[in-house]
Amino acid sequence: MAALLVVSTILLLLQHRTLRWAKTESNSNLQLKSILDNIDALITIKDANLQYLHVNKKACDFFNINAVDALGKRFDDIYASTQEQAKNRKSDLQVLLHGDHLSMEEQFINAHDKRINTFLSLKFPLRDKHERITAVCSISTDITAYKAIRDINHQLIFYDLLTELPNRRLLLNRLENLLLTARRDQQNSAILFIDLDSFKHINDARGHHIGDELLKKVARRLLRMMRQDDSVARIGSDEFVVVLTQLSSDTDTCYATAEEVSSRIRRALEVPYFINGQAYLLSASIGAAFLTAQSVDTEEALREANVAMHRAKDNGRNQVMFYQPTMTQEAEDRVSIGRDLSYAIGSDQLKAYVQPQFDMQGQTVGVELLLRWNHPERGWITPERFIPLAEESQLISKLGDWLLEQACALLLAYPTHCFTVSVNISPSQFRDPSLLQRIEHILDTHHTPAHRLIFEITEGMLMQDPYQTTALMNRLVQRGIRFAIDDFGTGYSNLAALKRLPLYELKIDRSLIHDVDTDPDSAAIVRAVLALGQQLRLHIVAEGVETQAQADFLNQHHCSALQGHLYAEAMPQEQWRQQVERRIH
Ligand code: C2E
Ligand code: CA
Ligand code: CA
Repeated sequence: MAALLVVSTILLLLQHRTLRWAKTESNSNLQLKSILDNIDALITIKDANLQYLHVNKKACDFFNINAVDALGKRFDDIYASTQEQAKNRKSDLQVLLHGDHLSMEEQFINAHDKRINTFLSLKFPLRDKHERITAVCSISTDITAYKAIRDINHQLIFYDLLTELPNRRLLLNRLENLLLTARRDQQNSAILFIDLDSFKHINDARGHHIGDELLKKVARRLLRMMRQDDSVARIGSDEFVVVLTQLSSDTDTCYATAEEVSSRIRRALEVPYFINGQAYLLSASIGAAFLTAQSVDTEEALREANVAMHRAKDNGRNQVMFYQPTMTQEAEDRVSIGRDLSYAIGSDQLKAYVQPQFDMQGQTVGVELLLRWNHPERGWITPERFIPLAEESQLISKLGDWLLEQACALLLAYPTHCFTVSVNISPSQFRDPSLLQRIEHILDTHHTPAHRLIFEITEGMLMQDPYQTTALMNRLVQRGIRFAIDDFGTGYSNLAALKRLPLYELKIDRSLIHDVDTDPDSAAIVRAVLALGQQLRLHIVAEGVETQAQADFLNQHHCSALQGHLYAEAMPQEQWRQQVERRIH
């Protein structure tokens, strides 16, 4: 680029000269030619017939011509491409006829290495002393390297390196343009916010190279499904956005198209991915929102799609949800509940209630700790609502530690009893690498007999990463802790795997118990679970027992313990202690 500065100084010199300079070899002309030959740019001067009056050394080298032979020739005589010839002629004439000063990008093939180089060319007229235009001067600076760097920068700034898809910044640029179209032509676009459901588990368990490979495959699948005008972007680790452009001005039509395409995407992403001969399963939660003439701005529309995506996740994942204004309020609630929860842990608001479990003789054989949160403004918030929030915000480990301390304290209060204390362990808690260390620390500081502790985990956790989960279970079992599978009978447990796991207990899900005395299918499943448990010598607890008929059925089939409202609801620990004391005295 510095050459351009030098060149522009020389222009001033040139412009005050006439054609005579080329024909007469005065001293000053020779000096000028020497300067032009040493400048790092292609410089040519053509007369009114577009014949060369001067071609500098650099241009001669580039086009592989001789400076003297070139005189009187035209560009067409020294360069083959008819397209470039036409462009060159047109611009020369524009300068000659109208006296224009042009700045343009040109591409020429280097005569030696046959590579295409890009030039920034300046073209301007040369005038005689009567100010008549007599020649056109062209100065072309090679900007090939500069352009390559610019392209790389562009790629880095606007594209995701892994998938080569547009990134968030480019997506927002495109959305800006679409918003203008929507406002001008009433053409709406749909934003589909796609989040992969179990990607993080696979990434953690199988390594980043598998994770990266999966993301690339997802990107390719999405690209294959899109029309040319649609966009696919990757805007977070496992977050993609698809924009369906200019759908229609009619809301119903937009909705129908977006629904059809998003369902198709959801199904396509469910198809197994093969990497090194191994199949991997993913699913996606998709949130959809529209970009219309009424949209406030693009960030807002993207946020709406994101809120809808979170709703799809909360609803059980692997589904599509469309944004509705009420969702914003709920999203805000989630944030504030999550924030309040961190204050609640360890305060009076949060309590670990107990729900006892009884054997056939009516003896308390165990209790399950269940969380209860009395929020100062919102009142009671169920664990089903706040546990997922705690999982998302990483508060779950703090909550889990606190609960384990409660369990330890309860066990220590009854050192001579033999009832067990069960705690629920959520999947993200189990994935925390520091879990083992923290549990050992808590057990050591409380001098708790670990063999009276039962950790309830779910079938899903075993399915997601059987190898790692089993390894951790074994370490904890060595420490004395026992394991139960919670909500058993609703998942898809690999029954063969059950045998290999260090399990103590199965808890039959309350949905099966609910109609065990009325629905033959539920009865058959419960009987099968009981038979399986007995075969594997597992302790079996039925949860959610509400009626005597259910209890009778379970007792008849030798269920080890029953838990449910028929006997007791979850209650504050003090209340339960009073009941226990009363029974003892
Ligand atoms: P869960 O582990 O399956 O707990 C059993 C749920 O059934 C409890 O609901 C309990 O109150 C309820 N229940 C007990 N007996 C009956 C009955 O006879 N009929 C009916 N309809 N329900 C009965 P809760 O306390 O609302 O807990 C819901 C879920 O929240 C629990 O399901 C568990 O997954 C989770 N949860 C509760 N406390 C904790 C905790 O400390 N940590 C974790 N990670 N999860 C927890
Ligand atoms: Ca449980
Ligand atoms: Ca359960």
